Amino acid sequence: MAAASRLVSSALAPPPPLTDSHGRVIHDLRVSITDRCNYKCVYCRTGEVGAQYPELSNDEYLRLIRLFVALGITKVRLTGGEPLLRRGVVELVEELARLRTPSGQKLDLALTTNGHLLESLAMSLKAAGLNRVTVSMDAVDAAAFERITRVPGSFPTVLRGIRAARAAGLTPLKINCVLLRGFNDDQIEGFARFAREEDVIVRFIEFMPLEEGRLWSPEIVVTLKEIVACIARTLPLVELPAREASETARRYGFADGVGEIGIIAPVSQAFCGACSRLRLTSDGKIRTCLFSQVEHDLYGRLRAGSGDQELSAYIVRTVQGKEARHHIGEPGFLKPSRSMVHIGG
Ligand code: SAM
Repeated sequence: MAAASRLVSSALAPPPPLTDSHGRVIHDLRVSITDRCNYKCVYCRTGEVGAQYPELSNDEYLRLIRLFVALGITKVRLTGGEPLLRRGVVELVEELARLRTPSGQKLDLALTTNGHLLESLAMSLKAAGLNRVTVSMDAVDAAAFERITRVPGSFPTVLRGIRAARAAGLTPLKINCVLLRGFNDDQIEGFARFAREEDVIVRFIEFMPLEEGRLWSPEIVVTLKEIVACIARTLPLVELPAREASETARRYGFADGVGEIGIIAPVSQAFCGACSRLRLTSDGKIRTCLFSQVEHDLYGRLRAGSGDQELSAYIVRTVQGKEARHHIGEPGFLKPSRSMVHIGG
């Protein structure tokens, strides 16, 4: 009887989560579903390079994502390139929303977008089962925004997208802004006001050496300390406690209780020790770190006929080799072979 109940409970127990050799539990997968983008943000792209990598079919992404979920991934974020350019993105979300973790939970489903196509897609994405979106936006001044994206009319289009996402319930709605010194750091205070007026969480991100060109230098990075000091001059801030250990953003509320901002500081205050992420590129390669020097060809194995068990074993082995940390700013630092837009941000 005791043996039988042990058997039942071990059959019900979820499989061990994906854990790397540094003891970090991996539960967050970012999947790039295209490396095409309709924006040419000047700090990200040279404007001379288009899409460089193939895309898989929705069924192929689904087959691979299913394997990750069975191994312990609980959060999936679709990204790119620009994921809303991908035909069938709503259907893909619908299929992902049907997946369940080994303990029977729904996935936490998110998407990162430049917002250009969000106005028309927000309702369908929500209905398909998407939980929330993060919209990238690097200026609150329309002219500055359009200089950055190199797309006329982009500012009002993205603003309508943000409002449509909020109306559709794709919340909490986060706005990510990458700051570069002498370029858009004059937008910080405007963004703080924008967060309060539009009821969104604005997160400032330190610029990382992941651009197509050669723009990055330690001096161009606007650090967490500087951002906090700049906002606090006009709007006092209080630091908020982290909701989970692997949270990338340091959270701050405004002292009057209205609104929240976050700061993601991978350069000045790296959070690699709590990293819970893996990336799958649009062509089906696993990247264990944004700054990995190697990629792991999961899709190549699928194409060569590997079965689910072999592919899962490959994922587990690959996760074991996840890098301890990145080496931004250290002597001998090497940029990865792909830039952000081709990896999936
Ligand atoms: N097209 C989608 C978007 O705009 O959010 C997804 C892809 S985009 C590459 C993802 C995010 O990466 C954007 O917020 C972008 O600002 C950010 N990003 C691009 N280059 C970066 C860099 N060198 N350092 C930090 N963030 C970067």
